[in-house]
Amino acid sequence: MNALTIDVEDWYHCLEPDPAQWHRFEDRITGAVRRTLDVLEPSGTKATFFVLGHVADRHPELVAELHALGHEIASHGQEHRFVYQQTPAEFESDVSRNVSTLSAIIGAPVRGYRAPCFSITRQSLWALPILKKLGMAYDSSIFPVVNHRYGIPDAPRFAYDALEGLREWPVSTFRLAGINLPFAGGAYFRLLPYALVRGMFKRLNDRGEPVMFYLHPWELDPGHPRIPLPVALRFRHYHGLAKTAGRLGRLIDEFPFSTVRAILNQ
Ligand SMILES: [Zn+2]
Repeated sequence: MNALTIDVEDWYHCLEPDPAQWHRFEDRITGAVRRTLDVLEPSGTKATFFVLGHVADRHPELVAELHALGHEIASHGQEHRFVYQQTPAEFESDVSRNVSTLSAIIGAPVRGYRAPCFSITRQSLWALPILKKLGMAYDSSIFPVVNHRYGIPDAPRFAYDALEGLREWPVSTFRLAGINLPFAGGAYFRLLPYALVRGMFKRLNDRGEPVMFYLHPWELDPGHPRIPLPVALRFRHYHGLAKTAGRLGRLIDEFPFSTVRAILNQ
């Protein structure tokens, strides 16, 4: 079993860091989540949805619906602020607020967390004991790659105990010539040829390693607004959106997926 994870934020949350500006953008999250559910539904595949607080506050019914459908609800924090740009006290308050909201909506504890933009790095490892204190059983925020915004390149590539009682399950990478190559989700999944992603997926599964895969609902919503962005970011954000739903459907046909919690509980 591989883990299918969806970071539930709207198309603008990763483009505009200032929450005071968010009211200017079109709210499309419900439609985008529906598109995602449409892909999962035929096979009955269940996923883990890391829900941003700003979305949960505005659309509690969407969170309740995902939970009622048998998906796992987990935390993506409240305001999409990078962990390493917060103090430990700010981080605790941000995650705690989101976890309280989500658990009140679903009437059950929330046990998993993923940081905005994988922002648990060497400078913000202090976040791990805070996550444990807030009741998290697992985290999926430490990406073992080189990237200008995130990553601990030599962190373990497969699930491990980050602390006693807190499992870390990083997004999967493929190791080639001593380098960890990201492929399992997001822009990597949209930019790389499908056959290459499939091949890496299969190689890991053949070795008995489950893949941790991630997407955002807006990646299945090609009609979302185009706003002016620097060229590289524009390419990374908007490229391949029209194909994502079809590719995800294919991946689900070819590989078995489940929620993080279900796999870690096995
Ligand atoms: Zn995010």
